[in-house]
Amino acid sequence: MKSYNDSEKEAIGVCVRCGKAICPEEAVTIKGKLYCKECAEKTGTQKKLYRSRKDRMLSGVCGGLAEYIGIDPTIVRVLWVIISLVYGSGILIYIILALIVPKEPLI
Ligand SMILES: [Zn+2]
Repeated sequence: MKSYNDSEKEAIGVCVRCGKAICPEEAVTIKGKLYCKECAEKTGTQKKLYRSRKDRMLSGVCGGLAEYIGIDPTIVRVLWVIISLVYGSGILIYIILALIVPKEPLI
């Protein structure tokens, strides 16, 4: 009778975050990078808000917000315009965000 433990399982790669060898059942790919299950969860919850570089009308604030929340940038812009018209503070908030939110890093 043959017995084996976890360390003998064949690893398909190494986690880009913690460097652990990953077996097929715990491999998670995010944006083309390989993570172990644990790091994939952490990576998912540690999303950062950036001004989008590829999706921008003015300074990329709406595009970045849309990427962060995971919705269509156009919806964010429409909502922003509505909020601006109704409450009158959207433009001010936009300017503040454009100043404090960092640009998406070039990777
Ligand atoms: Zn990991």
